[in-house]
Amino acid sequence: MGELALETRSNLEKIIEKELIPYVRKVDSEAFYAKNYLKKLGEAGLFSSAGKSQRERMNEELFVVEETAKVCMTTAFCVWCHLAGLTYLRSTDNSVLKNKLLPLMEAGEILGATGLSNPMKYYAGLEDLRLHARQTKGGYIFSGVLPAVSNLCQGHWFGVIARTENGKEIMAMIPFGVEGLITKERTEFFAANGSATYSCQFNDIFIPSEWVLSEKAADFAVQIRPAFVIYQIPIGFGVIGASIESMEKVRQRQNGCNQFLQKQPEELRSALENLKQRLQTQLSYEKPDWKEVAGIRLETAYLTLDAVQAAMLHNGSAGYLRNCDPARRLREAYFFANLTPTIKHLEKVQGDRNRVPDQQSQSI
Ligand SMILES: Cc1cc2nc3c(=O)[nH]c(=O)nc-3n(C[C@H](O)[C@H](O)[C@H](O)COP(=O)(O)OP(=O)(O)OC[C@H]3O[C@@H](n4cnc5c(N)ncnc54)[C@H](O)[C@@H]3O)c2cc1C
Repeated sequence: MGELALETRSNLEKIIEKELIPYVRKVDSEAFYAKNYLKKLGEAGLFSSAGKSQRERMNEELFVVEETAKVCMTTAFCVWCHLAGLTYLRSTDNSVLKNKLLPLMEAGEILGATGLSNPMKYYAGLEDLRLHARQTKGGYIFSGVLPAVSNLCQGHWFGVIARTENGKEIMAMIPFGVEGLITKERTEFFAANGSATYSCQFNDIFIPSEWVLSEKAADFAVQIRPAFVIYQIPIGFGVIGASIESMEKVRQRQNGCNQFLQKQPEELRSALENLKQRLQTQLSYEKPDWKEVAGIRLETAYLTLDAVQAAMLHNGSAGYLRNCDPARRLREAYFFANLTPTIKHLEKVQGDRNRVPDQQSQSI
């Protein structure tokens, strides 16, 4: 991921060593949420904008996601949730949120999250908006249900979008402990249970104007969507990298019999490098091309599935043990494929790209 200061790499390595590696198994099998790891990243300045160009900051944050995903994809997803929250605050014109909440989130004192899957699917024509808003004195009243919001805990803030009766779409940041929010922890998943995921029921919640990120949420979503998706891509890169490494470790087993398998580490590595280069090209532009970003995210999702599957074949029965790393990565990778924008959503974006203009929808 571009050129990074040695100090950044070494700080991150130490935090991973101390705050993540010892907990990976617990994250996977006991739904343990590695909150302390995220906080330490913030304390070390790894989410800070100070003294960095936008490209430097993004490269550093992408590196954090990738290195985290090499060790634990579930926790890398939590890092992404925080980065999505940061993206909303960095992009808003609301000076209260920008001046008060953003510095606390960049320092890791407060962690961020995102409830934007449903709006992203709504803007892509996949489903209707689940949250409704009613204008009232000094703000809005939100109601409705979001089935899954991750990286949540007391004191965390998350971004949501709701539509008013007259069709205005409001995006706001909301604290997890806000009055009227009924939450239920969800740990019934095939993997990623350590992602602190909750269903969130909004029972007429008062949202003061100070929490509103934008009253033109559709435009705001278009503005933040490249960063929203770009930050997801290294989740896949990390899992692919770790899968390649696990294949290389067992190369000599059974007299090198793995060389006869159809998928080899070299092929995966070359595809990974190609995707990394394409991402760097997009990062070099002031405004990345949305369709290309969506294409890179789609190809990364497919390559991630290829890589975890190949690692299962290379590792044989040792990889089939319930708690081993290849099996964990295989389960986690299916969440990457089904994280909004999901593979089917991204395929629709690519499909819309290939249609004649008057057939194109407003897919995002
Ligand atoms: C572990 C986890 C964490 C997530 N964290 C977040 C988050 O932080 N923020 C966020 O906004 N979104 C989050 N999501 C949602 C995620 O981003 C995707 O939107 C979701 O995984 C899949 O979306 P989908 O497009 O397949 O549609 P779905 O939402 O799965 O719906 C597709 C269709 O399946 C139906 N359906 C859904 N569940 C079931 C079921 N159990 N049985 C039968 N039918 C069903 C729906 O009614 C719908 O018709 C999370 C999901 C998971 C699994």
